[in-house]
Amino acid sequence: MCPEPDPRPAPGRGLVLVVEDEPAIADVLRLNLRAAGYGVEVVGDGAAALDATRDLRPTALVLDIGLPTVDGIEVCRRLRARGDWTPVLFVTARDDEVHRILGIELGADDYITKPFSPRELVARLGGVLRRTRGDANTAEVLRSGGLTVDVTTHEVHADGRQIALTATEFDLFAHLMRRPGVVFTREQLLSDVWGYAATAGGRTVDVHVAQVRAKLGEASPIRTVRSVGYAAERAPRHDAGGAESGS
Ligand code: CA
Repeated sequence: MCPEPDPRPAPGRGLVLVVEDEPAIADVLRLNLRAAGYGVEVVGDGAAALDATRDLRPTALVLDIGLPTVDGIEVCRRLRARGDWTPVLFVTARDDEVHRILGIELGADDYITKPFSPRELVARLGGVLRRTRGDANTAEVLRSGGLTVDVTTHEVHADGRQIALTATEFDLFAHLMRRPGVVFTREQLLSDVWGYAATAGGRTVDVHVAQVRAKLGEASPIRTVRSVGYAAERAPRHDAGGAESGS
């Protein structure tokens, strides 16, 4: 029941699921989000949104409230009820809908009222994702054992040696390093790092993981979890970067 995977998603910023029943608005959103570097899938009703969120594992939802079958607020409620905290940017046409949004737990989520400019929507979505991922305005350096990953400069060092990763390799590696110990499926990584629909196939992920491992050599913290996916090992506690004493 998945929508067809986008054949040429713009890589890098993740997959956005647009839930919008008005085709003209959906087209505008698709165009602008793609131009901003997101992969985009569109569904037109609430029931399809629930299925697609489970199947495609999008990085975020742009969720119209006035929808056939299940309305946007109920979609969000059901997602949260099943433990799915995918960030949501609500699109609302009416003031009374805003009150209903404010009645549910928003977390990092946000809303925008129609009519809106596509530019504003893209900016607001960026804000939602920044809050979810941590503040992108503060320098972010991930450390684990002898590894440092500077998310601002895109530099990776392993035991003082600089490792040259391609942009995609870097995005993949940083994504794993942000959540040490968490196992990501290939589908999640495709969605989060490439912006592909999860149905697009995991071979791309395997190839890039292999390249990152080859470049890092012994220093690679990436662990394969058989028939599941990949995780970055947590560094042993005594030399975890930060706080205490000497390495
Ligand atoms: Ca609508």
